[in-house]
Parts: sequence; structure tokens; C-alpha cells
Amino acid sequence: MTKLFIVIPCYNESEVLFETSKRLKEKFQELIKNQTVTDDSKIIFVDDGSNDNTWQIIEQLHKEYNLFSGCKLSRNRGHQNALLAGLFCAKGNCDAVISMDADLQDDINAIDRFVEEYEKGYEVVYGVRNKRKKDSAFKRITAEGFYKFMNFMGAEIIFNHADYRLLGSKALEGLFEFNEVNLFLRGLVPLVGYKSTKVYYDRNERFAGESKYPLKKMLSFAFDGLSSLSIKPIKMIIHLGSIFVLISVIILIYSLISYFSGNATSGWTSLIVSIWAIGGLNLIAIGIIGEYVGKVFLETKRRPRYIIEEYLK
Ligand code: UDP
Ligand code: MG
Repeated sequence: MTKLFIVIPCYNESEVLFETSKRLKEKFQELIKNQTVTDDSKIIFVDDGSNDNTWQIIEQLHKEYNLFSGCKLSRNRGHQNALLAGLFCAKGNCDAVISMDADLQDDINAIDRFVEEYEKGYEVVYGVRNKRKKDSAFKRITAEGFYKFMNFMGAEIIFNHADYRLLGSKALEGLFEFNEVNLFLRGLVPLVGYKSTKVYYDRNERFAGESKYPLKKMLSFAFDGLSSLSIKPIKMIIHLGSIFVLISVIILIYSLISYFSGNATSGWTSLIVSIWAIGGLNLIAIGIIGEYVGKVFLETKRRPRYIIEEYLK
């Protein structure tokens, strides 16, 4: 039997919490009955500084059933930090912990298989979503492109795996050895190591409420993940720069030859084009380097990643 904790970050999720907690409670009753998990297993809802009555609901759930715990952050810190705060509460108190979203998009019937794999000796179990049948073509292409692009750029992440995963207590301890402030958990967990495996599940639509990740936030999340895991973009810029220098040498030789052979090319078109091209390239390069400098700046500050205001065990 496994003492299982579930960590669920919640930001303004009052619309879904009742249903989520109801379904999870049923699930746990079943798991406890067939002796998969112990009866002191827990579900920790992390309130990520919501401004609706999410925390009141969590308090109420905690009062009614001791299956539910609550962790309140002092303010909104974003999904990744909220998740980490919840994992911190679970650390040392359980055999394994599963992280999932509040909106029932992650199929809770996969929990059985997660625990099964853990009991076989896997410290890390990644939830990988099956084919994105329900998503629009746009969402599918951008999302799958994201995973491919990230891997190409040197950030090792698992294809189609988000934050639905199980961590054994050893992997959890390992994760807290990483002190970075720029958190991108799905890129960090593979770095922790240990024996891992995958569990496939169907991702549902959001049960209620709306996504807290609009496209703009998603793009910045992707770039954040990339620049906190990999320095390949900087290297690529250096390569690109070298190629440009090479091209300019070739053009120099070409223009010298045409000058001496008497048919010098006139015209400012090529000139103006290259000014813009090189100017643009410079700006991109400075921007990317600036992004990394910014990351270093934040890391050296060593700001806390979250502050727990209250923990209802
Ligand atoms: N979330 C959070 N803090 C935030 C934004 C989101 O804790 O600042 C939580 C949210 O409550 C949900 C999970 O992160 O449980 C995933 O968010 P959402 O479902 O909106 O993202 P999507 O599934 O659309 O990518
Ligand atoms: Mg969601």
C-alpha cells in the first residue's frame, strides 16, 4: 500500500472545486477500499492567491473530510510555484505524490496506473496525453510543435507531458535540491533522474471556468522554460553571426572582383536590405542575451519561490 498525496494548484477555481473534490473523494474511497493507497492519504489544494472564494471552499472541505488539506500562498505566484509549494508540504509526509490540475482535464482514472507503476519500482511516472483528438488543429499543431521545438533547442522534456505526474519520495527530495527561481518543472524533473516510465491518458476538456493560460501567457511560459533550461539559443546566435561574417567576406571578394573587372554594381537596394537585416539580427541577439542576463539577475537575488501563509494539515 502506498501513502499517496495529490497536489492541486488552484487559482480562482471556485467553479470547479466542488466537482473536483467530489470526484476525487469517490476515487480515493475506491482506492482505499481495494487497498491501493493507505487511509491517511491526502489531497492538498494549494490556493495560489485567488481572489474569489477558493480558499473558503478549501477550508470547508478540510473541515468536512480529513482527506482534504489546504495550503494558502501569501499571493499569486503562478502555477509552477504553487505546485512546488504543495510538493513542499507533501515532502517527507508520503511515499508518493501526484500533481494535477484543478479543472479535471487530467483523467483521474489514471491514478491507479500511476500507483501501479510506482509500486513496480518507478520513482517518476509521467502522465502523457494520448492523441489530441478533442483539440482544434491550431491547438494541436502549436502544442506538439512546442515539445519538438523545446527538444530541438536543448531542453529535455517529455513529449506531450504537462504537469500530471507521480514523484516518489526520493525523486521529491531530489527535486528540492534544485534551487532555481525560474521554475519549469517539466524540464527539471527529467534532470532529477531515477527510474521513470510513462502512463498514457486522455485529456478532457476543462470542466468549468476558463483557462488561466491564454496564448500570450503560454508563449511566455514556453520561452521562460527554454531560457531557464538551455543556452542553445545563445550558441545559435553565435553560429548565425559567424555565417553572416562569412557571407560578408564572400560579398567583399565578389565586389572587388566586379570592381576590377569594370562592372561595379551600383544601387542602394542591396545596401539598405543588409542594413535592416543586420540591424534586426543585432537586436534579436541583444534581446536574447538580455533575457539570459535577466534570468541570472533573478537567480542571484535568491528570492523565495513562494510564501506559505497557512497550511491546513
Ligand atoms: N493555476 C495556478 N496559478 C496561476 C494560474 C493557474 O495555480 O497563476 C492553476 C489552475 O488553477 C489550474 C492549473 O494551474 O489548476 C492549470 O491552469 P489552467 O487549467 O487554467 O491551464 P490550461 O489547462 O488551460 O493550460
Ligand atoms: Mg486546464
